[in-house]
Amino acid sequence: MNNVSKLCFGTLTLSPLQQNFSPARAADLMEYAFHQGVNFFDTAEIYESYPLFREFLKRDLPREEVFISSKCYAYDRKTAKESLDLALESMDTPYIDLFMLHEQESQHTLRGHAEALDYFAEMKSKGRIGHIGMSSHFVAGVRAGAVHPLIEVIHPIINKAGLGIVDGTRQDMEEAIKFAKSKGKFIFAMKALGGGHLLKSYGEALEYVLGLPYIDSLAIGMQSEEEIAANVLSVMKNQIATRAVDRSRKLIIDSYCIGCGNCVARCQQGALSLVKGKAVVDTSRCVLCSYCVQSCEDFYIKVV
Ligand code: SF4
Ligand code: SF4
Repeated sequence: MNNVSKLCFGTLTLSPLQQNFSPARAADLMEYAFHQGVNFFDTAEIYESYPLFREFLKRDLPREEVFISSKCYAYDRKTAKESLDLALESMDTPYIDLFMLHEQESQHTLRGHAEALDYFAEMKSKGRIGHIGMSSHFVAGVRAGAVHPLIEVIHPIINKAGLGIVDGTRQDMEEAIKFAKSKGKFIFAMKALGGGHLLKSYGEALEYVLGLPYIDSLAIGMQSEEEIAANVLSVMKNQIATRAVDRSRKLIIDSYCIGCGNCVARCQQGALSLVKGKAVVDTSRCVLCSYCVQSCEDFYIKVV
């Protein structure tokens, strides 16, 4: 992980769950970022964006200089193999640089994924995975990952307002991340801008995360050349702009919602509830992670 850029291109924004860019448009943006010095690109199985990466990897770039990360929900050997095979085949790459377990909550969830982690370790020894990691919105998850012998990278949520941290405060998460760093883990922060909520205080929000000495890299979702250029200046050249490039995103729920409650159950942030038989979002809690989008079979909930 020594050579990854401090800024990681979070590609949820480009995926079918959000902007739904064509593979060519997404690859153009990723290639643009690469030429600006960004070599770290993050996705996840649930983002359904592997075809965008397949297109990107077809571009004339040295594969060994591009660092790709993905995450999955595998819990046993079979699901771990399926997830890894899907990633490698869909992106048409012989290996993935970083493969992570998504949304780990505590030592108990990590224990429940032990078989998957063992499979990843086996695949790492065969060169199909570069590094093993986990993502978490939980203080307890970060603390559990910190002492897990197979976890090398922790991808925690951290931002100035403490948005999205499920089981504690910003200070609790800072302490957990610091602990993980002391155990030799690579810290790859997410949601420094609170999923878009902190765009109004963009400079201060980035200054906060960049000021934490134990953060090695941070993922920011981007969707235009202008946004990439601004974040490269802020994160990699220490020229933090006071204002963000104008980019507003929001969660919308179609009036056709039948109130089945699937999305409500899926949201870890408690941002959704049913009111008079329809899903309703509390925008102050929603971090625009898009996890709920896939839970609606009829696509009545989306981030745009
Ligand atoms: S409402 Fe959806 S997008 Fe918002 S925090 Fe919950 S799961 Fe994420
Ligand atoms: S999953 Fe879809 S239909 Fe069900 S409550 Fe949510 S938005 Fe409505």
